[in-house]
Amino acid sequence: MNAEHYDAVIVGAGFAGIGAAIQLKRMGYENFVILDREDDLGGTWYVNHYPGLAVDVPTTTYSYFFEPNPNWSRLFSTGAEIKQYADDVADKYDVRRHMRFSTVVEGARWDEEAQAWHVALAGGETLDARYLITATGFLSQPRMPDIPGITSFDGRVIHTTAWDDSYDPAGDRIAVIGTGATAVQLIPELAKKAADLTVYQRTPIWVAPKLDVRISERTKRLFARMNWTQRIVRAITDTIYEMMINIGVVHYRVPLFRRLNISAMDLCKINQFIQIRDKELRRRLTPDYDIGCKRPTFSNSYFRTFTKPHVHLQSDGIDHVTADGIVNADGTKTVIDTLVLATGFDLWEANFPAIEVIGRNGRNLGKWWRENRFQAYQGVSIPYFPNYLSLASPYAFLGLNFFNTMEYQMRLMDRLFGELKRRGATTFEVTEQANTAYLDRMTELLGDSLWTLGNCASSRSYYFNPHGEPSLLRPMSTRTAIKEAAAFPVSDYEIS
Ligand code: NAP
Repeated sequence: MNAEHYDAVIVGAGFAGIGAAIQLKRMGYENFVILDREDDLGGTWYVNHYPGLAVDVPTTTYSYFFEPNPNWSRLFSTGAEIKQYADDVADKYDVRRHMRFSTVVEGARWDEEAQAWHVALAGGETLDARYLITATGFLSQPRMPDIPGITSFDGRVIHTTAWDDSYDPAGDRIAVIGTGATAVQLIPELAKKAADLTVYQRTPIWVAPKLDVRISERTKRLFARMNWTQRIVRAITDTIYEMMINIGVVHYRVPLFRRLNISAMDLCKINQFIQIRDKELRRRLTPDYDIGCKRPTFSNSYFRTFTKPHVHLQSDGIDHVTADGIVNADGTKTVIDTLVLATGFDLWEANFPAIEVIGRNGRNLGKWWRENRFQAYQGVSIPYFPNYLSLASPYAFLGLNFFNTMEYQMRLMDRLFGELKRRGATTFEVTEQANTAYLDRMTELLGDSLWTLGNCASSRSYYFNPHGEPSLLRPMSTRTAIKEAAAFPVSDYEIS
């Protein structure tokens, strides 16, 4: 059977895949398909639906630049509303009909002779495409903790990415492993119903107060009628977030900015002090690394939850799991009915790249990244991988907001594909020289950042790759990244 031919294959129907599809359409491409292993669109916002799920960036900022949403019910909207936004955007820009769900992509191989990508699907089918865009997200491969005895546990086990909506925690004895952003949202919700809740913390997290407000119907109508009013609010929330990441983290070398970073930690400590009277409990919940080494979070109820008599913090570690509970490192045992794994995602091992990608001369992307340094020009392009954009790459993620990342990546697509069209060309590949220069520049910029100069040793942060380099985030402002993406020298690519 002949393979189906497309101008482009996009892997992933989350906000990155939807954005890439909208950009392709803007440039006149219609013959493309978006593949997703799930049975619906929305990526992380479809997969995650645990109790308490909400965005931790104000939703005025957490949306496409070109598609403000007047309907958010709160400043920090719920997961369900964000999923709805993904549906609305996909429908408005007519990208849903390009999507093919429940389709697992196994790998992609560049065919030099045909100048095309062969995309292999589970089940044996192959699709051919001139362009390949992987939009697989950064946090899409759940991490299952390798704790002795965990498979012998007889009760219910739930990873937060596979929440069972029919599960009622009422009267249950529950253990939660993990204290990342997910756990911070989930723990207060479980504590409302559980008979007993033990939280296993390996590394504490910085938690700032959440300045959340309800958005009134009147304000929503104003946002809908006068679009610019919402853009003003967005400008304010954007600026606050940009300052947090750029002042507190990226330009950490500046002594005044370092002072501001310390103030942010003080704010988290005040948040903790207001909620917890017990000094020892506060100490156990306080990180010993600088804020920003790993992603901090926001909550007004997380700390208070630990003051409830049926909620316990275990910070001594887990020795092993048995059929009916957890044996703690101090030898005591906690008997539980349900084990909740809020253990996050395997970013570096399983996600870079999320599928096997074989480029020119048989270069295997995952192997090459591991044997060399993790790298990608402008966070999207890699030498020896023609006609390929990897949207979830090293040095791609801009600060704290995924949509800023999407904005510069869409502008880069606009410039690159615009140039191809102008020249009547069909193939692009970043030059080794441009890629190396970009990597050197990222390394230099990171030299001024908190991740290099701060105290991050004990943070266990996914911002750092297994070689210890902080190669996840693009260390610059959104404005700079967008400017670069819209104006990079086209000679950085070989175009033919
Ligand atoms: P995470 O930040 O990676 O946290 C995972 C937690 O599990 C950590 O506390 C980790 O401890 C712990 N853990 C993992 N393996 C363990 C083991 N074997 N034994 C003991 N503890 C273990 O994952 P997450 O909380 O799911 O959040 C991931 C990211 O998703 C966040 O940083 C954020 O960017 C995003 N997120 C966003 C929102 C939102 O916008 N609303 C909500 C949730 C998540 P260590 O730290 O010691 O490794």
